[in-house]
Amino acid sequence: MMAAQTELTEADLRSIQRFQEEVQKAAASTKKDMELRADFRIQIWFRSTRSRTRPIQYSLSFWSSGKRLHGGGDEKMFVCFRNRGAPKIKPFEVAARRGGSFTAEPSERGCGGIIDGSLVLPDNTHICPHCSTRHKAEHLGDVVFYATSARKCATVLAHWWTKFKGNADLYAKYSSTDIRYQTALGTQGILAARASKGAVIYPLKNIMKDTSAGKDIVQAFEDFILA
Ligand SMILES: [Zn+2]
Repeated sequence: MMAAQTELTEADLRSIQRFQEEVQKAAASTKKDMELRADFRIQIWFRSTRSRTRPIQYSLSFWSSGKRLHGGGDEKMFVCFRNRGAPKIKPFEVAARRGGSFTAEPSERGCGGIIDGSLVLPDNTHICPHCSTRHKAEHLGDVVFYATSARKCATVLAHWWTKFKGNADLYAKYSSTDIRYQTALGTQGILAARASKGAVIYPLKNIMKDTSAGKDIVQAFEDFILA
């Protein structure tokens, strides 16, 4: 487990823009935009009640979709960022970068990139595909915690969504005090509600539909957060 802050940079916004243009081009040529399926899932779990005005506590985790793994279940992904208490990165832990397509420089704890959980080596280490740092599995986090405003939460989601080049669904779970959870209690019963936590999915095809209608991505995510 870890805590981190992310800012949506100009480069992120350009990347979102590029992705939307690509998708719209593809949709126009194939007319199959409604069949668009994402390869990844960003899961947000609200740990407090959602609010327009007060900070919200939430955690994020990242999953690769089962369809990429020949019909297996979804696989949790790691984040290139060492846990609190894990040793700082030493120079010898950054593998040779020759010949790779490495794009990030690690800080003393990592570069913040996503590492596919299936990229585990026989000695139970992971090499980050972005910065080439080698990590022991137990030093890496797979959950990121935040406490921010709803607006900032939307930019954090957009930042991570951009890291997946827009190829991700959003999936939300809610705290037991949340109206979504309370509704699930009423309609599903206590065991199912406890398991689902009132889960709601915002599939990529709906994200694209909303943003192609002119809504910007941060606004679309803020609306999802507060819905
Ligand atoms: Zn990295």
